[in-house]
Amino acid sequence: MFESLSDRLGGVFDRLTKAGALSADDVKTALREVRVALLEADVSLPVARSFVKAVEAKATGAAVTKSVTPGQQVVKIVHDELIAVLTGEGDPGRLKIDNPPAPILMVGLQGGGKTTTTAKIAKRLKEREGKKVLMASLDTNRPAAMEQLAILGSQIGVDTLPIVKGEDPVQIAKRARTQASLGGYDVYMLDTAGRLHIDQELIAQAAAVRDAVNPRETLLVVDGLTGQVAVEVAQEFDERIGVSGVVLTRMDGDGRGGAALSMRQVTGKPIRFVATGEKVDALETFEPERIAGRILGMGDIVSLVEKAQATLEVEQAERMMKRFQKGQFNMNDLRMQLEQMIKMGGMEGVMGMMPGMAKMQKQAAEAGMDDTMIRRQIALINSMTKRERAQPDLLQASRKKRIAAGAGLEVSELNKLLKQHRQMADVMKKMGRMGKGGMMKQAMK
Ligand code: GDP
Repeated sequence: MFESLSDRLGGVFDRLTKAGALSADDVKTALREVRVALLEADVSLPVARSFVKAVEAKATGAAVTKSVTPGQQVVKIVHDELIAVLTGEGDPGRLKIDNPPAPILMVGLQGGGKTTTTAKIAKRLKEREGKKVLMASLDTNRPAAMEQLAILGSQIGVDTLPIVKGEDPVQIAKRARTQASLGGYDVYMLDTAGRLHIDQELIAQAAAVRDAVNPRETLLVVDGLTGQVAVEVAQEFDERIGVSGVVLTRMDGDGRGGAALSMRQVTGKPIRFVATGEKVDALETFEPERIAGRILGMGDIVSLVEKAQATLEVEQAERMMKRFQKGQFNMNDLRMQLEQMIKMGGMEGVMGMMPGMAKMQKQAAEAGMDDTMIRRQIALINSMTKRERAQPDLLQASRKKRIAAGAGLEVSELNKLLKQHRQMADVMKKMGRMGKGGMMKQAMK
């Protein structure tokens, strides 16, 4: 789902997250690429434009937390804006089906997945909400479509209205209503006829059925792979018949994900479900967070930023910053950093959240760099005296033995820790000499 868009944005943000300090020009450049990516993902030009504008306004004014890079911060702003656009009112998975029998009208073009989706929703209502559902096909032009619904019904154990030849769609709809009332059904779903294109007859028929049964929900089923066309179809159906929600199908394909974004921005209609395959179970409640995450393709960098913001005490970070600038980095600082890593979910947590880090995570694990090791290192530091923590370079062999023994570990592990600390201290010293401005840039090299 959304591969092309996420790949593209992934590239942009890779560059950003490596860049360290972010200038207004950087933001502009990055967002230009975001816009191109959105266009390539079949988001319409006005939608892409206004989306990028909103992000730019927010990115420019936003304070960048010290614990994350400005690039990560921009990612989060883009992500939040995606969610803001994608989110509709209310719970998308909760259909209005009180006062039984509640009619649900299913509309859409032929081949969009309407019949399959009707069965998927029926199955869901039956299994998750314990509803008794009746399905009826109104596609009098295509006997095969009526058969298809009947077959799906028997597959999922949901009743379908018996097919009576010669009835028109309104007659079938009324018969469905009567049967639903008499049979004690909670819901009856009307699978209207589809056409390859929107035409007068199709609209007139759907409108007549709508007027006959007054549906509680009118769900438009559109092929998510058709991008801009899907949006136009939705606009048209909404204007002529009135739509209460949208189901995007074929979201399992490797297609362009722009449809979801444009759909929301242009029609303002809530996306209720996404269909992700031909099987009757392949239906998911629409989740803006999930879709936004996938669009970004950034792993879970957003929650990394959130966690960093929540757990890093700013004062502590600032104090540490000042010390680093003076070239000071002792065992207390290292311990604080190690503890920070544990708080953020440990090595695995931190790395798993960063894009492209899966491989490194594996390598780190192979090298023994895991949570256990972080905890051991903290134990070693704890076993030092205050003075030793401040000046670890002065440690004698006899003290090393005692420190290692105090933590229940080997001297070799302590040596590893000391080496690691020395390397980090060297980097800190170099950065300190360069002053605040050059600091981050150098660190990224
Ligand atoms: P209708 O003409 O709108 O009623 O469309 P159908 O429900 O008959 O679906 C048309 C074809 O698309 C069928 O072969 C379905 O199995 C397939 N289909 C429906 N939804 C999905 C989906 O979410 N993903 C994939 N890959 N195929 C789907």
